[in-house]
Amino acid sequence: MSPTLAPAALEVIDSRIDNAPYSTTSGRHGTVWNPATGEPHAQVNFASAEDVDAAVASAKAAFPGWRATPLSRRSEILFRLRNLIDQNRDRLARILATENGKTLADAKGEIARGLENVEFACGIPNLLKGGYSEQVSTGVDVYQIRQPLGVVVGITPFNFPAMVPMWMFANAIACGNTFVLKPSEKVPSAAILLAELAQEAGLPDGVLNVIQGDKVAVDRLLEHPEVKAVSFVGSTPVAKSIYETATRNGKRVQALGGAKNHMLVLPDADVDAAADAAVSAGYGAAGQRCMAVSVIVAVGAIGDELVAAIRRRIPSIKVGPGLAAGSEMGPLITREHRDRVASYLDHAKEQGATVEVDGRTDPMAKGDGFFLGASLIDHVKPKTRCHDDEIFGPVLSVVRTSTYAEALAIINNNPYGNGVAIFTRDGGAARQFQFDVEVGMVGINVPIPVPVASYSFGGWKSSLFGDLHMYGPEGIQFYTRGKVVTSRWPDPGTSRVDLGFPQVR
Ligand code: NAD
Repeated sequence: MSPTLAPAALEVIDSRIDNAPYSTTSGRHGTVWNPATGEPHAQVNFASAEDVDAAVASAKAAFPGWRATPLSRRSEILFRLRNLIDQNRDRLARILATENGKTLADAKGEIARGLENVEFACGIPNLLKGGYSEQVSTGVDVYQIRQPLGVVVGITPFNFPAMVPMWMFANAIACGNTFVLKPSEKVPSAAILLAELAQEAGLPDGVLNVIQGDKVAVDRLLEHPEVKAVSFVGSTPVAKSIYETATRNGKRVQALGGAKNHMLVLPDADVDAAADAAVSAGYGAAGQRCMAVSVIVAVGAIGDELVAAIRRRIPSIKVGPGLAAGSEMGPLITREHRDRVASYLDHAKEQGATVEVDGRTDPMAKGDGFFLGASLIDHVKPKTRCHDDEIFGPVLSVVRTSTYAEALAIINNNPYGNGVAIFTRDGGAARQFQFDVEVGMVGINVPIPVPVASYSFGGWKSSLFGDLHMYGPEGIQFYTRGKVVTSRWPDPGTSRVDLGFPQVR
């Protein structure tokens, strides 16, 4: 059997170039699993370097025409795409639930947060307004315009197969760039549906291409001379290596990495509100969100009450397949990842912490799907694996401290700096925390502070390599470069030769 032929009845997912399905030529492929059943769902064919070249060539050919397309026309196409995605929410949500495992309700939340970015990009005529200074010198005006870069690339993770691509391509194409999207090989189908909808919306051939694959495809994208910028979202080691390679090759890069998000609970917080928030943000999407709460830092006496309140809530979390009605928490992405997450429950015991709830005892964790129940670990200490590693699963750790200063030091010593939350009723304390904390996105009584699309998303430290955050105003900046024009329309009657350095007159 040829390596590109899937076992009978297994759907084959391929790439999409020039608004048409494209069969890759490498002969290599991967399995797309259904994490809820533990069975193969589809086969995804991986691109070779030559396939990547074909996608980039298509995007390069489309660039001159697309960049010359009037802003009003780009906006009209994006608006139609916005409506098509809206009409296809159910279809897209089913794809996310099947390939990623998240619940339908969570998938719809992801789509809504992605769609915000398409809506934002519809305002491109307004977003690309430059500045104009009249009469900077006699008869001289200066104005600034922003122009697209050319072919730009998006490399995306498994945990948001629709939202993260929308974070990137909506603004990139609105600015006049053409785009090559390389989705996670674990969840390849959502990108294809989004590209099909973009075609239906009227996006010309080559403006949005999807290339399926792994490191081979990524490596070629990072060295391709026609690729001008790279947006990446994924784990920290890969983000760092992509940043280093692509910048060395002269590309503009924003590479968002992993996270370890703390939730600081001060003694005056409302215990029930804090427990609800911790459970929702810690176990939603089975903890596989880059903004999930992973560590609760409880200051003073509230710790005992808070741990008890979280414990009380865990038995009513309904663990089950994402497509099943009533499921609140789906499986993890792969069996290996589930087993790795579960291993932290053993590390916790070895390192002197207390496992309050062990998710391995959930009945769903004993089936064929990649499930793990919600887990709670108390008395976790910094510099242990549970505290320091990005676990990326439904495991909440609780660290006890006696002062705000001690809690702040724990948070600021963490190498990541993606999201953080504070729960308190004291406005002054919250304001001080916002001033002190070394994290890019801060929630005040908000556990998952993902900025709305009119602001930009990005962490600090090992959570982001690059200078500009993603989407919103910084996204527009990332996908354009400035040009400043100094102009004079002299009265021919006053024209004369002057070899002096131009100066204000
Ligand atoms: P990942 O780093 O394994 O993969 C991300 C992308 O990089 C995929 O498209 C993958 O094919 C590609 N890739 C993987 N290894 C590569 C390599 N060695 N060379 C080149 N390309 C490679 O990440 P993941 O497991 O898909 O996603 C989960 C991670 O993403 C978590 O660490 C999570 O915190 C992070 N994440 C961060 C954000 C954020 O905004 N900061 C958002 C979502 C997810």
